[in-house]
Amino acid sequence: GRQTIDRQVDSVCPYCGVGCQLTYHVKDNRIQFVEGRDGPANHGRLCVKGRYGFDYVNHRQRLLTPLIRKADAPKRPEMDMDYDNPLRDFREASWEEALQYAADGLKKVLDSRGPAGLAGFGSAKGSNEEAYLFQKLIRTGLHTNNVDHCTRLCHASSVAALLQMVGSGAVTNPVADVDKCEVIVLIGSNPTSNHPVAASFFKNAARAGKTLIVMDPRKTDIARHAHHFLQFHPDTDVAMLNAIMHAVIELDLVDKAFIEQRTEGYEALKQHLQEYTPERMAPICGIPAETLYEVARIYASSKGSMIFWGMGVSQHVHGTDNVRCLIDLALISGQVGREGCGLHPLRGQNNVQGASDVGLMPMVYPDYQRVDNQDARHRFEALWNTTLDPDPGLTVVEIMHAILDGEIAGMYIMGENPAMSDPNLNHARQALASLEHLVVQDIFMTETAHYADVILPASAFPEKTGTFTNTDRNVQMGRQAIDPPGQARQDLEIILAMAERLNLNWDYNGPQDVFNEMRRAMPSIAGITWERLKKESSVTYPCRKEGDPGQPVIFQERFLRADGKAALVPAHYSHADELPDDAYPCILITGRQLEHWHTGAMTRRASVLNNLEPQPVAMLHPEHLQQIGVQSGQAIILRSRRGEITTRVRSDSGVTPGQVFLPFCYYEAAANLLTNEALDPDGKIPEFKFCAVQVEPA
Ligand code: SF4
Repeated sequence: GRQTIDRQVDSVCPYCGVGCQLTYHVKDNRIQFVEGRDGPANHGRLCVKGRYGFDYVNHRQRLLTPLIRKADAPKRPEMDMDYDNPLRDFREASWEEALQYAADGLKKVLDSRGPAGLAGFGSAKGSNEEAYLFQKLIRTGLHTNNVDHCTRLCHASSVAALLQMVGSGAVTNPVADVDKCEVIVLIGSNPTSNHPVAASFFKNAARAGKTLIVMDPRKTDIARHAHHFLQFHPDTDVAMLNAIMHAVIELDLVDKAFIEQRTEGYEALKQHLQEYTPERMAPICGIPAETLYEVARIYASSKGSMIFWGMGVSQHVHGTDNVRCLIDLALISGQVGREGCGLHPLRGQNNVQGASDVGLMPMVYPDYQRVDNQDARHRFEALWNTTLDPDPGLTVVEIMHAILDGEIAGMYIMGENPAMSDPNLNHARQALASLEHLVVQDIFMTETAHYADVILPASAFPEKTGTFTNTDRNVQMGRQAIDPPGQARQDLEIILAMAERLNLNWDYNGPQDVFNEMRRAMPSIAGITWERLKKESSVTYPCRKEGDPGQPVIFQERFLRADGKAALVPAHYSHADELPDDAYPCILITGRQLEHWHTGAMTRRASVLNNLEPQPVAMLHPEHLQQIGVQSGQAIILRSRRGEITTRVRSDSGVTPGQVFLPFCYYEAAANLLTNEALDPDGKIPEFKFCAVQVEPA
């Protein structure tokens, strides 16, 4: 109860990109309960994850000491982790021994193979300061741009299209702008599960009379609130969106002044869209032509229409093309550049926006300054007092290929779990097992840590202070509420200790020092002071000068491309990499559930959440279940060309017969054993949302 609390600490939720502000109520170094705070993104609300998902920090499996792999414990490519005794293959070590061993192993690879033999994965679960220092360590200590994180797996294609067409990869308008719009389009997103507090904004807006249009191959909860629900065939986004644009043009609802003054490439786009008539696209996408016309009319003629999208759009080999269509649609309709309209890719993890902004990516330094741009490189060489590799590094999935090709032999992985999150896990696990030297920094014995040579026990969210950037571009302060357990250390401290052993002469006294350097490196946040963050808890970037209030809505005057104009880019309709056939006749779609977070490392160890959804489950249509003679609660085998899992099923009439929806958080039935690692050529994002599978009773 409240009377037994000795401290209240204001912070942010560790889970999704909505970035809800909350207060930890602490007694005896333990969080007793959590309450929502009145932040710009949540207005006091929290979902079940934010409210009840905190006791993972006290879980008995927290890593409490540094660990080194036992000499007689070989790494096997197949996952043979004993989940009851996960430390089986490791011995305890002192921090001194573990750090030296970690750094020596990386240096050995550097000496034998050069920088191209090394790579690092940072994390969107960590703070901006941790992400910034981690990429700086990989670039300046290991001398390679092979540094990436899970943004590659969620919105890399969105960022590629946005950077190309409007010059900035972040959202144009905050979620709360739905109060100011007339029409909300939600595509490829299941916010009730993945951005629950944002979903409450959408539902309230729909109730208040805004028109909600939902487009998704799966009928999820939010579709029940929609005025128009377009259950289009998976993989046909470009066909459907091009048809809607065709209709906007045919109905003469384009914003001619906006196109003329603020865009380029309209004539070519118009020409390209001629063949994409709603009548011709209807049978391809499964949406009647009248509906496509109707949606085009509603979207383009309103005073303000917002588009929100999720992984259903981005995780395809044509993910960048899917997003190009959304941007084109907004631009030709003039629905961008003021309050209550715009483009909003809903960010997944609580700091995936921030980790990308601070340069935790192979092709860009902080603030998206390209590593292959000589001026940018010289600026960072001066700031960091070093020489830098001029070539962009490899991305997440490319790094796994490079390991198996014998090019990369050493890795430092902080807070990511590619042995669960990468596509085609048998391949990814084989790669991790074949590394000469793997350093893992995490709070639990993750599937990835199982392949480590040395494990550095790190801090959970409430155990450290730092800044986090949510989907709305709010930079928010997360504050330390409790101490790390055992000998576990704060991540920033561990990165600094590693830097010292990699002969980097760094001098930072805590996250504030790092943030101040970030301000010098990043014009977009140059105006944000640590003091102001402490006082206001949230400041929106761009914020270029001290005293600048920050800009919740961007592109009001100009786009961020060199000439200030947006580029309209046509997209051709193309197929998934692997289509169903006689041998593998069903379509697998992967995703998340409300109660669990990504690979499950935290939420499967949060007691309330794991009790709500304790075991793997696949969703199939009741007719499909009947056809294969399986009832809800019974088990099936799912098999793709890459792997096989066994899972229980749940009947879900929102899934189309012949399709299977599978959450990816369960190690017992890892969805990514099945998924396809084929990449989008621009965003290098894998096709998590579509592959061919067989389904049979277990
Ligand atoms: Fe946390 Fe997202 Fe839920 Fe808010 S909506 S409480 S940020 S998981």
